[in-house]
Amino acid sequence: MRLLDRLQRRFGRFAVPHLTEGLIACQVVAYFFQQSNASLLSTIALVPRRVLEGEVWRLFTFLGTPPLSNPLFAFFFWYMFYLMGAALEHTWSEFRYNVYLLVGWAATVVMSFLQPDSIASIGFLQGSVFLAFAYLYPDFQILFMFILPVKMKWMAVLTWLYYLVILLLGDVTAKLLILASVCNFVLFFWSDILSRLRSSRRRMARQTEQSRAAKTPRHVCSVCGADNLRNPELSFRYCSKCVGSPCYCDTHLREHQHIVAGPIADKDNGRKN
Ligand SMILES: [Zn+2]
Ligand SMILES: [Zn+2]
Repeated sequence: MRLLDRLQRRFGRFAVPHLTEGLIACQVVAYFFQQSNASLLSTIALVPRRVLEGEVWRLFTFLGTPPLSNPLFAFFFWYMFYLMGAALEHTWSEFRYNVYLLVGWAATVVMSFLQPDSIASIGFLQGSVFLAFAYLYPDFQILFMFILPVKMKWMAVLTWLYYLVILLLGDVTAKLLILASVCNFVLFFWSDILSRLRSSRRRMARQTEQSRAAKTPRHVCSVCGADNLRNPELSFRYCSKCVGSPCYCDTHLREHQHIVAGPIADKDNGRKN
């Protein structure tokens, strides 16, 4: 992406490192605070109506919303988020990873304002980190819940299916959040996906061409139509005395009348090869 390269040259030095760890730290703090103060989550959640009423902090604090309340699930979730976020940061550079999250965050906020009374979740933003990681490392295997080995690509397929189901059947807020979370993924990967599609189409065309070539016989007897594919037992020759040097099978090489052109036709015609 050329635009991103240009931006990186200009603003790369402002990149914030370890954004994943920062987000996880906020979520861990919120997770423990919420145990003693149950109303915490409703104070930090992104509810656009409340933002419009002046509670601007919600635009940022919702990023600290912790995952599921079960500590084991929460720990696994943070572990995975850390693993993927750190890998993306390492693969892309801090700046690009910042942009990826920033675009996801901005899209989430914009979409949430289309449904100002509902609560926007951070889940889909983290989902976009997962999708980017799975796209870059499809064969990376994780132990799901530390037990079940699963490859990233299969989890990504399930996630995309889940998104599709929500897009078809979910409520409006969920649909908007999914569109928001897919925004940054599309922005970062569309050119790569397009070029992959193009090269696979080229490959398919080449394969079709090759298989057609394999089905086309090289030698066809111009008298009886026998060819080297259907009649591998025959041998084929080209008669140099015939005009155009046509191909003949054994039998017709011996028995054919030479093809001649123009006025000398009568003279040569009838002479056996
Ligand atoms: Zn023949
Ligand atoms: Zn001939």
